[in-house]
Amino acid sequence: MPEGDTVWHTAAVLRDHLAGRTLTRCDVRVPRFATVDLTGQVVDEVLSRGKHLFIRVGPASVHSHLKMDGSWRVGKRAVRVDHRARIILEADDIRAVGDDLGVLEVLEREHDADVVAHLGPDPLGKDWDPERAAANLTAHPDRPIGEALLDQRVLAGIGNVYCNELCFVSGHLPTAPVSALADPHRLVSRARDMLWTNRFRWNRCTTGDTRAGRQLWVYGRGGRPCRRCGTRITYDDTGERVAYWCPSCQR
Ligand SMILES: [Zn+2]
Repeated sequence: MPEGDTVWHTAAVLRDHLAGRTLTRCDVRVPRFATVDLTGQVVDEVLSRGKHLFIRVGPASVHSHLKMDGSWRVGKRAVRVDHRARIILEADDIRAVGDDLGVLEVLEREHDADVVAHLGPDPLGKDWDPERAAANLTAHPDRPIGEALLDQRVLAGIGNVYCNELCFVSGHLPTAPVSALADPHRLVSRARDMLWTNRFRWNRCTTGDTRAGRQLWVYGRGGRPCRRCGTRITYDDTGERVAYWCPSCQR
């Protein structure tokens, strides 16, 4: 599932391939923007903000959000194009294809920041502000920790995997109120550390053990023993998002 680290990494790969190059093909397969043609324009920069990705090309900014199933693939021409493609950008022998993007729009570059103005501090951003993130997290004392962590206005880039993992390392259930956090600053710094550590990886790891099957504390481990205490990990998939926790380690 794409989270802030995936989007950051995707932006880095797109930047490596496209920045400074002139587009030789621009094929947008979304009705509203199908007539947009950025051919002949130079890709100036590629950046991420939380889970949002921007490719700035001349006067335009291609804004995308991967949502649940989206991805960008980039490489030499052999990059496959099929019915999932929503946009194809080429610069000579380089091809970038955005598949199943949850959001794809072409914005005026000068105003592209408007669509992310509501976001909280980005742990992978240059302007990361842990004080503000901690204040946002605890702004409403009764709010469940899991809900607050997933709110992109609190901090940007946390998805369900990190949410579950962060609740585990905090020692609290996702349903516990944020007022239960003894040290919210510590939790936001762990959030930043987790995303930062994983920003160059496609297989995320929160335990420090990158071996297959050992990368995560609780996410996706329902019914299996807790890595700390051996108690079976419990899960609840009745809500909008599945939650995993250790009933002994988390309160
Ligand atoms: Zn445990």
